Amino acid sequence: MRIDEKVVEALKHGLSYELYKALLLSYGKRGEKAFFYVKDRRVKKYRDFFVVVGREEYLVDDSFCTCKDFQIRLKGKKPCAHILALFVAKNLGIYDEFDAYYIDYLIPND
Ligand SMILES: [Zn+2]
Repeated sequence: MRIDEKVVEALKHGLSYELYKALLLSYGKRGEKAFFYVKDRRVKKYRDFFVVVGREEYLVDDSFCTCKDFQIRLKGKKPCAHILALFVAKNLGIYDEFDAYYIDYLIPND
């Protein structure tokens, strides 16, 4: 998913006010939320998936997210806050890594 040039440019300054401003100007509230997801270290890397912890935990990749905002309001065409957060987190290397498969938490063992 294509991310606004202003945001890409602002990544050079790290997790900075410039980046916050670029996200807010390009993506409004979604951009602002994305900044704080990264700042609060809510982006998690499992062996199989990236997860962003919002009100719920969402499975996220570069152009897909399991949240309703992405699937319903944005119709899968524009990045939601979680996709934006993942983009920033990956570029700046700011995420927590777990040596586990997320899928193991989703499927109950019996
Ligand atoms: Zn999302």
